[in-house]
Amino acid sequence: MRELLDEASFIAGVNRALERGTERIPLLLLRSQEFAQRAWREGKRPARRLERATVRAFKDAAVRAMREGDLFAHEGQSDWFCIAMSSPSRGDAGFATVHVRAALERISATMAVETGRRMESGWCSIECPLSVEAFDAARGRALERGARERERYEFLATVGHELRTPLTSIRGYIETLLDDDVDPPTARRFLETARAEAFRLTRLVDGILDFSLLDLHAPAPLHACDVASVARGAVEAILPIAIAADVRLEIHGDGEGSYARIESDACMHLLLNLLENGVKYARHRGRVVLTLVRQGAFLCITVDDDGNGIPTEDRERIFCYGIRGRVPLRVAGRGVGLAIVRTIVERSRGRVRVEASPLGGARFSIDLPTTEA
Ligand code: ADP
Repeated sequence: MRELLDEASFIAGVNRALERGTERIPLLLLRSQEFAQRAWREGKRPARRLERATVRAFKDAAVRAMREGDLFAHEGQSDWFCIAMSSPSRGDAGFATVHVRAALERISATMAVETGRRMESGWCSIECPLSVEAFDAARGRALERGARERERYEFLATVGHELRTPLTSIRGYIETLLDDDVDPPTARRFLETARAEAFRLTRLVDGILDFSLLDLHAPAPLHACDVASVARGAVEAILPIAIAADVRLEIHGDGEGSYARIESDACMHLLLNLLENGVKYARHRGRVVLTLVRQGAFLCITVDDDGNGIPTEDRERIFCYGIRGRVPLRVAGRGVGLAIVRTIVERSRGRVRVEASPLGGARFSIDLPTTEA
């Protein structure tokens, strides 16, 4: 069994590996906050017992996953466990992100099985000789990166989940049409549903990409967009969904020929999000009205519906990513649409707000600065 080093010997070992000419060394970190919690709840002895069991699990898992020449460390009574992948036999391949992440994943999974507890984990790269302070900072960096990677994983898992539903539905319709004897009116209905799902899938993908791209805080666009014409396109695009939901769509106003400083795709996206929400949250056999009005230097867009509206206390938070309001259980969603709306509007130096609609439901109002064609 290889030795578990204390902090000082570990730092010295890493520095020797760097002196030997290794350019960068992956530092893997595992941490358990439970030692401190248990000490606080049950006293020092049970906390030490848990620490000893975790040390055993760490040694077992690390020895299995690592090579001769890699370094392992745990400072007694601390909450961290470290590995430096410093074995000369690794060469450059040892640093491949995928190997590092896989090794970390294997070790933390084994430890979780053996101790019955999940560990926080992460990794970073060491390129300069370590001091005690630099080692401390590196552990912080590793944990931060671990948290970010976990967040990304969860995001992708959510996206995967969202994309699977429409894909399953489209595939189901196509297979039925290919395999079964379906009469022409039913076949048409199936195709229409599949088309609507494909349409939704596209918007889903656009939403995901837009959100991650817009989040980069790109500068405001210089485009001039004919909002009235985009608005007519958006109403057209959402029509199949409105028909399916038995909701009437109307477009009013005198915004004709008004140009706003916004990309037309972004403007389309913004309107589709608001219109689809209107349709989604309107009454059964309800109404959604899109209005364009020119007011001084602004073009004001409102989307009204006759649904249940939005309680005053929710009117700010619903614009945050991933937040949903109080919605009927049957209405699916992920709380992403309005976050996209707000990002687009702010990038275009506009304003968005929500209030009660004269139709009885919600009114979303957007003011976009106008510009020359
Ligand atoms: P989602 O609709 O997927 O939940 P959104 O970001 O589009 O996500 O909306 C966030 C929340 O705002 C919704 O969960 C809902 O509570 C509320 N909301 C949005 N539009 C409307 C509307 N027209 N009427 C009532 N509530 C709405």
